[in-house]
Amino acid sequence: MIEAAEGTELIDTEGRRYLDGVSSLWCNVHGHRHPEIDKAVRDQLGRVAHSTMLGLSHPGAAQLAAELVEIAPPGLDRVFYSDSGSSAVEVALKMAFQYWQHRGGQHVRKTSFICLDQAYHGDTVGSVSVGGIDLFHSTFGPLLFEAHRATPGDVEDMARLLACLEEEVAAVVIEPLVQGAAGMLTHPPGYLRSVKRLCEQHGTLLICDEVATGFGRTGTMFACEQEGVTPDLLCVAKGLTGGYMPLAATLATERIYEAFLGSYDEFKTFFHGHTYTGNPLACAAALASLEVFRRERTLVRLQPKIRLLSEWLGQMQRKMPEVHEVRQCGLMAGIDLGEHDPGLRLGHRVVMEARRRGVIVRPLGDVIVLMPPLSISKEDLRELVRVVAASIRAACPLAKLDAGAQGRLDAALLEAA
Ligand code: PMP
Repeated sequence: MIEAAEGTELIDTEGRRYLDGVSSLWCNVHGHRHPEIDKAVRDQLGRVAHSTMLGLSHPGAAQLAAELVEIAPPGLDRVFYSDSGSSAVEVALKMAFQYWQHRGGQHVRKTSFICLDQAYHGDTVGSVSVGGIDLFHSTFGPLLFEAHRATPGDVEDMARLLACLEEEVAAVVIEPLVQGAAGMLTHPPGYLRSVKRLCEQHGTLLICDEVATGFGRTGTMFACEQEGVTPDLLCVAKGLTGGYMPLAATLATERIYEAFLGSYDEFKTFFHGHTYTGNPLACAAALASLEVFRRERTLVRLQPKIRLLSEWLGQMQRKMPEVHEVRQCGLMAGIDLGEHDPGLRLGHRVVMEARRRGVIVRPLGDVIVLMPPLSISKEDLRELVRVVAASIRAACPLAKLDAGAQGRLDAALLEAA
């Protein structure tokens, strides 16, 4: 039960302190209770907590949209707000679909999507349709629309799919550079750039989901920058408010925006508006967070921490036989413990060991995710890695003991039968 927090620490109702090793589900950026962001939200409370963005706007939303356009890859000039990562992806999918409907002619046949195997874009039905993690997504099969799965990192596979399906594909949707929920699955350098080029060649749109990778997580403000790519639609959420509040945005190019213009009775409107879209308190937090990025030179100060993390994780991989593989992109990392019987719940055991040692992390199956706030100190980063290594060391033999006991029990039962 987390009652309070300070910097990179969470404090429970018993007063125990824990390092927030997963940035409160990958969203905290500058630490908890950052004085500037706290103040911005308090000041906004003194003006208005919420007013609708349907038919109205407010200064914070307008200023934030302008700042997002400024920092986003060039050419993304329009901003549509929503309130979660899943919604930002729903918006992008619906916009891509409707874009081709407005283009008319044979374009109206562009109604399906290409996504990546192991992709995760959220839990709403549209974003689940372009998801590729069977554990989360397969139950809902009958509810979903058509999406074709490409093999992550394989340019040839994407080229083949696009060549076969170009007349029917509205958009390719991908998490750029690293697929977070897949277990920090990193793509080979150049993959994103090749996918963008293929989308252009085959006349399909590219949606980049930067819900997890955005706002410095991969070492640059947006992951797309590292491959010089401007997608047609860019989804952001999580770190947008510094991890303070639910706010999301889908950025679009002028070409997409213009397809929605027309006289009232053409009804080209994008009919999608949530109650809390562009909430003023959340916009105030987001503006303050962007200011902190500038003032504290967050991205510059992040680089040595990324290098240190890579060095320490490399040592872990070399020295710990329990560790099958480590994957890292910026301050996003996964420690893969390899294939184990799911019944052992090895990942879960590791995070419970870490919790006892004062660190909060979360597993994705048997991959331990490390994603601390970008503001973490080098000392705390070292502590995070040290505790996680100790927790893996403690949990693995226990799991093996249990597995051994279970094996002996199974054998005895078999014999008895
Ligand atoms: N896209 C990606 C890449 C994500 O990692 C997530 C959340 N982990 C989402 C979308 C969904 O975001 P939310 O939980 O805010 O709906």
